[in-house]
Order: sequence, then structure tokens, then C-alpha cells
Amino acid sequence: FVLFDNVQKSYDGITLVVKSFNLGIDKGEFITLLGPSGSGKTTCLMMLAGFETATHGDIFLDGRSINNIPPHKRGIGMVFQNYALFPHMTVAENLAFPLEVRGFSKAEREDKVRKVLDMVQMDKFGGRRPAQLSGGQQQRIALARALVFEPSLVLMDEPLGALDKQLREHMQFEIKHLHEKLGITVVYVTHDQSEALTMSDRIAVFNDGIVQQLAKPADLYERPTNAFVAQFIGENN
Ligand code: ATP
Repeated sequence: FVLFDNVQKSYDGITLVVKSFNLGIDKGEFITLLGPSGSGKTTCLMMLAGFETATHGDIFLDGRSINNIPPHKRGIGMVFQNYALFPHMTVAENLAFPLEVRGFSKAEREDKVRKVLDMVQMDKFGGRRPAQLSGGQQQRIALARALVFEPSLVLMDEPLGALDKQLREHMQFEIKHLHEKLGITVVYVTHDQSEALTMSDRIAVFNDGIVQQLAKPADLYERPTNAFVAQFIGENN
């Protein structure tokens, strides 16, 4: 469904921050890019989203190379740590925006916004502005905004990073539930080992621009293939 084929990225023309990234992602899979800060996870996500271009290699979505397709035409939903909701718009307006960009009619927009607010259990909050919501509620709206145009692929970059532990665990459960219910493919970025182990079908462990191991959570835990993976997975567990 998604294929990174020998993808490399350099920001300065010299140093490769992503050295040779090969990854095939199946439809409906929940895959996590896990690794320490600066290891290249976000860069890989940004290339898939279309906000960065690969220095070398190709990215395929549904069998097509997407190298020359702009972000809003890739049909990909995105959630980031800092939410990036528009502060001057109400929740409902924030959610209608991605639909407006894609040319949905007013009636369709209203219908889809209502449904997605229901889905994240925020149906009473459509008239509020982001500043009038708690962190967890803003996070739910950011999630709703990524899902509102019914994408088959959703990218999430540390979406729970700003939440306290309890809310984080609750939202992990909710994201997993939505993933299963909607049958979407999720590419998730985190530096949190236990979050990755709990949520993922497979995990790609990054270090220094290279995938050290790609495996199911249990295999990663029980059979790390090198010292870096063993140590990184073992931390905080
Ligand atoms: P984090 O968890 O801290 O976000 P990460 O694993 O997602 O880290 P990236 O954000 O992909 O890592 O960064 C990889 C490397 O690329 C880092 O050394 C970073 O400084 C560098 N980098 C990222 N974005 C840019 C940019 N726009 N220009 C120059 N260098 C960048």
C-alpha cells in the first residue's frame, strides 16, 4: 500500500539524515517509526506527507509514485503533537476546512463534521474555539480533523506528546479503537517504547537515519537483532 524504496534525505546536500529507508506498509496496518530524537522519523513522515522531498529514491502509494504529487492531493490525514488548530475558527470550522479545500458542498461538510465529532465524542463542542478546550479535547479535534475527509492513510507524529500519562494512555486506546473500527492504515511516530509496543502491528526502530530492526512488538522485545535495539527497547520497560 505504501512503499519507501531506497529513500534518502539530506537537508544540507552533504549529511544524510535518512540513509537508506526501505519499508512496505500493508493496507490497514498500524506501523510505528520508533527511535531517539533526531534519528530521522519525522523526516520520513514528512516525505510521505509531501512536505519534504526525498533526495534520492521513490515513495509509492497504492502502486503510484507520489514524488510529484502535492500534499493536499495525496489523500493523507495528519495529526501532529502541537495540534495546529486554527485559533480564530470554531471547532466545527476547523473540521470543515479540510473538506472545503477538497470541494465538498456545505451540506456534505455539515454532515461529515457532525459524524466525526460523534466519533471522537466531542459532539457538544462544535461551537467552541480551540483556546476554550483542554489539551486532551484539542487533541481529539486534531484527530477528528485528520479523519474528517475519510482518508485511508493517517500519519501521526507524537500526537500524544503533550498529554499527561493518564490521558495519554486513554488516547492510545481510542486511537487504536478508531484504527480498528475504520480499517485505516496508520503510520505513527514516537520516541516512547511502551507506546509503540502497545499500539503497533509492526515497529521500525530508527537510529541515526537507519532502520535497525523492523518487527512485530513481541519479536522486537524477545529477539532484538542488535545491541542498540536491545538497549533502546529495554529502556523504561
Ligand atoms: P524528533 O523525535 O526529535 O522529532 P526525529 O527522529 O523525528 O526526531 P527528524 O526530525 O527527522 O528526527 O530529524 C533528523 C535530523 O534531521 C536531525 O538531525 C535534525 O536536526 C535534522 N533536520 C530535521 N529537519 C530539518 C530541516 N528542516 N533542516 C535541516 N535539518 C533538519
